Amino acid sequence: MADYREYKPGDGSQIPAQTECRQCGICCEKGGPALHTQDLLLITDGFVPFKSIITIRRGESVHDPVTDTIGPSKTELLKISGSNGTWSCLFYDKGQKGCSIYAHRPLACRTLKCWDTGEILKLSGRDLLSRLDLVGAETLLGKRLIEHEALFPFPDLKALVGSLSHISKKVLKKLERTVNNDLDHRAGSVDVFHLSVAQELFYFGRPIFQQLEHFGFAIRETATGIKIKFKG
Ligand code: SF4
Ligand code: SF4
Repeated sequence: MADYREYKPGDGSQIPAQTECRQCGICCEKGGPALHTQDLLLITDGFVPFKSIITIRRGESVHDPVTDTIGPSKTELLKISGSNGTWSCLFYDKGQKGCSIYAHRPLACRTLKCWDTGEILKLSGRDLLSRLDLVGAETLLGKRLIEHEALFPFPDLKALVGSLSHISKKVLKKLERTVNNDLDHRAGSVDVFHLSVAQELFYFGRPIFQQLEHFGFAIRETATGIKIKFKG
């Protein structure tokens, strides 16, 4: 995370350390927050609409605003999505340099003090909201999510790519099968539960194949399904 202290130009002396938010918007532009169980009411009361949330499955690449790095998520996250293909939080109003849901912003946003990260670091990774908190593990849809996660956990693409030059085509074929079975399972769920695209992405996360290109794979859609190649 950046050092937010300021120094007077010229004389090298340090002006008093920051003690309050200057509303610069940097934290909002770095990415929407992960949601915590304390945020559940914001969703059920409609302040944070369902379509503004994305699911990051365990193992998917994600930006960690606390460490400012990108890497595989250690756990499932529900996050406020980005805006127009950027990391910038959907609720950040760049023109106004402000949050459009300020009075109802999530816990992580209320906790973050960029000048004193102790509290946000304590919160990081704790009491995270999950899809099952919203759906219920005993519902038919909840059981379907559990089944999907068990059958198609997000593969460790970083580890796979790191050793791919030594791996046979058999492993590539296995990945291809997983990618296609993941899509078939989703298509079945869309039919059974009449899901919109936004609902499918929320409940099942992004399809595995959509992340492969970031790891050097070429994707081809054919009449018999997705074909993948490793470009390196
Ligand atoms: S908390 Fe966010 S908006 Fe406030 S000063 Fe820090 S980076 Fe800027
Ligand atoms: S919800 Fe509001 S405060 Fe939180 S990151 Fe988004 S714009 Fe910033």
